[in-house]
Amino acid sequence: MFEPDSAVVRPREPWLVRMHYRMRTVAFAMMFGVIALHVGGDTKSPGFWGLMILLFLVYPHAQYLRTRRLDDPTAGELRNLRTDSVFLGMGVATVGFPVWITFAGLLGTLSNNTANKGWTGIVETLVAFPGGALLACLLWGFNFQPATDWVTTLCCIAGLTFYLTALGQVAFTRIQRLRMTREALQVRERELMDVNDALHKNLREIDELQEQLREQANRDPLTGLYNRRYLDSTLERELSRCKRDGHSLALILIDIDHFKQVNDTYGHQAGDEILLRLSALLGSMARAGDVACRYGGEEFLLLMPTMPLISAQERAEALRLSFGNLDVPFGDFRLRATVSIGIAAYPGHGTSSDELIRHADTALYRAKRLGRNRVEL
Ligand code: GH3
Ligand code: MG
Ligand code: MG
Repeated sequence: MFEPDSAVVRPREPWLVRMHYRMRTVAFAMMFGVIALHVGGDTKSPGFWGLMILLFLVYPHAQYLRTRRLDDPTAGELRNLRTDSVFLGMGVATVGFPVWITFAGLLGTLSNNTANKGWTGIVETLVAFPGGALLACLLWGFNFQPATDWVTTLCCIAGLTFYLTALGQVAFTRIQRLRMTREALQVRERELMDVNDALHKNLREIDELQEQLREQANRDPLTGLYNRRYLDSTLERELSRCKRDGHSLALILIDIDHFKQVNDTYGHQAGDEILLRLSALLGSMARAGDVACRYGGEEFLLLMPTMPLISAQERAEALRLSFGNLDVPFGDFRLRATVSIGIAAYPGHGTSSDELIRHADTALYRAKRLGRNRVEL
């Protein structure tokens, strides 16, 4: 595939370089014009004219061609402003410091340097311009003819006015551009802030959804109680905490008696209704730190951290009685069911979660065997 050579395909030079090229070409041509007007009557050597042509007509183009090839043309262009001052100094010294031409040259290069480089520009001009003049004096001798005729004076005033106005116009364009860029940036900033707000809102929604999903993953869809998955992770944690703090912990395992019969007699929906009632009762009994969960089909488990065995037994008894006395309305029927409950507590019945659950299960099995509708340890 054809790959363009980056050394050959150069980007267009910066705006500053182009603008200075135009300004320099016109300004130096005007300087050449007034010098030619000033010395018009005198006979000057070809060397003099050669130098003037080099300084004022060739130099701007040579400088432009050199600068645009630099790695950093803008920095190079700012350095060129010093050379401008040196050459202008040489030019006015060569023709004997005519006051108006010297004034126009100095003020022109001083304004341009100041506009581009501030104080540095002022200092550089005040060194470079006399430096150029001194160089010319050393090369061709000191020559002092300050007077200019009125035509040259008028041309100097007109040329300088034109140049300074052009400089002002360039400054205006720059400021205008800056203002537009700033406005565009402000608009962009507002847009970015809006997008940022929307993004934050989306992130909050995602967080909420994730939280909902986490919650759903831990809940039993029918009863809304925690599921076994959640219990497995919580029991371990709560047990460790109780061990560390020297507290007891109780597990109450609940199973509805003859539940299959309820389903078989009144239908699955009736069974669900009973499950919901028992869940509500469990939920209302649970303290802030307790975890009520649906352990299996019609089996529930209430995890009670910091609860001593005796209190757990009392609570289980209360639950058994409340549920046993509960009428569950279902169509024309009023359903009743009982529960069998097995209790195990830390530290009396075991020190691991598996051990505790096994003991609660065994106790529940015993409650069933001993006739159901009872609480066993
Ligand atoms: P036991 O007194 O020995 O516990 O007898 P049981 O009939 O309650 O026990 P069994 O294990 O024989 O039957 C449990 C029944 O619970 C069987 C199953 O259809 C029912 N079941 C499980 N999950 C649900 C549910 O979500 N809704 C309904 N309606 N029934 C359920
Ligand atoms: Mg069962
Ligand atoms: Mg049962």
